[in-house]
Amino acid sequence: MQLPKTHIYLIIVLAVTFTLFYVSQYNEPPKKSDESLVPKLDSISAETEPVSESERVRLEHTIAAGESLASIFKKYGYEAIDLYLLTQSEFGAALKSIYPKQKLSFLLRDRELIQLTYSANPLQSYLFERDGDKFRSESTNLHPDRFLERKHGVIENSLFLAGQSLGLSDNLIMRFAQIFQWDVDFVLDIRPGDEFSIVFESLYLNGKKVEDGDILAATFINQGKSFEALAYANQDNRLDYFTPTGKNMRKAFLRAPLEFSRISSNFNPRRRHPLFKTVIPHRGIDYAAPTGTPVFASGDGKVIKASRTKANGKFIVISHGEQFVTKYLHLSNFANRIKKGKRVKQGQIIGYVGSTGYATGPHLHYEFLVNGVHRNPRTAQLPKAASIPPNQLENFLYKTERNRMLLASQISKDID
Ligand SMILES: [Zn+2]
Repeated sequence: MQLPKTHIYLIIVLAVTFTLFYVSQYNEPPKKSDESLVPKLDSISAETEPVSESERVRLEHTIAAGESLASIFKKYGYEAIDLYLLTQSEFGAALKSIYPKQKLSFLLRDRELIQLTYSANPLQSYLFERDGDKFRSESTNLHPDRFLERKHGVIENSLFLAGQSLGLSDNLIMRFAQIFQWDVDFVLDIRPGDEFSIVFESLYLNGKKVEDGDILAATFINQGKSFEALAYANQDNRLDYFTPTGKNMRKAFLRAPLEFSRISSNFNPRRRHPLFKTVIPHRGIDYAAPTGTPVFASGDGKVIKASRTKANGKFIVISHGEQFVTKYLHLSNFANRIKKGKRVKQGQIIGYVGSTGYATGPHLHYEFLVNGVHRNPRTAQLPKAASIPPNQLENFLYKTERNRMLLASQISKDID
């Protein structure tokens, strides 16, 4: 069937109008849930429990940087056998990848651990309950309502201040900055009048916002130069950001594989070594940071060494394809499941800053090698991460179209 041209235009106009309308409905904060659905507290406590002699103690713990479940058990004097039994339960593997700021809640009866709740995030939690000589476990996955939000701001002082004045969380602003970090230095390059727009998901549970979801599209206009980033998930379901023509926003390597306080020693082929007082080239960069600071894989690759020597302390070597190798020295610890042969993704935590080996204080010594030759990781030319393959380009344009439209509509809306 052949539709007359005017009909096709009409359909397009209707579709666009509908999409915009639908999205603006999306944007409306959800209504408070019906109060009658919430059970009354006193109706629950009316159930009388038999008075028992046993003493129950609940302990809440927020995981700190560098902690493992084993170190937490040791700190509170809990039984190592319970830790073992917990990890052997159905969802026990989840306990092996705990992360700073996540929450644990221990329930003890007469000093015996009878229950552990592990809240990985506001939407995902695990419950472990003692059942004779083992632990039963269950996983709770909450499905949030997703709403799209659009924001547009103009910078007067800093991106953080401008974002905060729009009500954006620090975490979201940081993720926004990370998308453009390869093109814009958010400390040195920012000028008053720089503009940004952002389209992101907001996750709600029972009418209450629990967290920000993914950033789906973003623009940044820096000193008159415009950058646009569109989120697109590749085959292994990892969200990456691309220019509208499908070029990756990322470089294949991070400039610095951690959040550091300062550079304590630069790349220097003719440096006098602080401990040995002789000329020993410094073939990496030393980043001073507190012990326990997470260290990231600077690019996708495979761990080819995770071991310990007298000089290097605990160290990791990652191979990234044929040409590139990165090294991370003086770690206090390796991250969970990091060992020889393990594949890692850019930005994944591989270990923690320490001062093992020949180190005068806690720092990361980071090396970047190209074809076996040490390069300065702060100035070396970094290759781009993979672009959208030509056979996926059409799908990419199709999938990102709505978000691009939203991004553009936001700008025109704020100008008038
Ligand atoms: Zn060093």
